[in-house]
Amino acid sequence: MKTQYLHLSAYSCDKCAGPVVAGSLAVRENEISKETDIRQVGAICLSCGHRQCKGTEADVTRNFPPVHWEPTKVIAASHSSTHWAN
Ligand SMILES: [Zn+2]
Repeated sequence: MKTQYLHLSAYSCDKCAGPVVAGSLAVRENEISKETDIRQVGAICLSCGHRQCKGTEADVTRNFPPVHWEPTKVIAASHSSTHWAN
C-alpha cells in the first residue's frame, strides 16, 4: 500500500536566528520500499518570515522523525462536511 510521510527539519535563521522550519513529503510504495517522489514544500522562519532554503554551514539541522501522512482521511472529512444540509 502506498503511504506518504511528512518530514520536518529545523535550523536557525540567517537574519534573526529564529527557527526556520523546512518540510518535505515523501511517498513509499509499500512497507519495505525506499521513499520516492520526495517533494520539498519550502522553508520559512517562524520568527521573521524569511524564506531560507538551507541552514548555514555552522548550524546544526534538527531533523524530526517522519510522520505517516494520510491525506485520504482529510479528503473524506471535507466531503462529509459538504453534506450538512442533507
Ligand atoms: Zn528569521
